Amino acid sequence: MVLSSNEAEDIKKHLLKKLGSFPQDKRELIKEKIESMPDTEVEDFIKENKLTHLGNQCIFCSIISNKTPSFKILEDKDYLAVLEINPFSKGHTLILPKSHEGDINSNEAKNFAKEIARLLVEKLSPKEVKMSGLKIMDHPILEIIPIFGDEKERWQATDEELKSLQEEIIKPIQPVKIEEKKEIIEEPAILYKLPPRIP
Ligand SMILES: [Zn+2]
Repeated sequence: MVLSSNEAEDIKKHLLKKLGSFPQDKRELIKEKIESMPDTEVEDFIKENKLTHLGNQCIFCSIISNKTPSFKILEDKDYLAVLEINPFSKGHTLILPKSHEGDINSNEAKNFAKEIARLLVEKLSPKEVKMSGLKIMDHPILEIIPIFGDEKERWQATDEELKSLQEEIIKPIQPVKIEEKKEIIEEPAILYKLPPRIP
């Protein structure tokens, strides 16, 4: 892959827009590093960090089209819910409209978000769940953040961490099994008639 200087600039812009997903104390350093990076190094940087999808494409559209791997929780025809890779709390989820110009204020989006919130509450038992809308790379996103009360700042989750969390969240709740009793209740051979009650 050979990047033109325009492409390199585009990628830098995309990276800078993603700064918000890094821990606060590292943002300044990362920003400096990106801004001062010569175009020739951008290519190696994106290879090293497996950011090849960043070209001119929106990373969320890339997730939706399965070009970028993600940890999915729920999906319907218009929305996809994935785990945030730089979460603020355990279960931090992004709801992505499948269209880049999609709507996060529609009733469908709200119902989908409620379903996610319900799932997170059921599986992770947070104290509360916060919901907010935002745009990254111009792609509208609904963020669902379970709050446990001990969160401090975002961290970079590992694939293993996200995979096991994904399994925990999407695992169906096992119904309690009740042993079926197959005893045959035999009818008594003789039915005794009770004497009429005397009041
Ligand atoms: Zn997009």
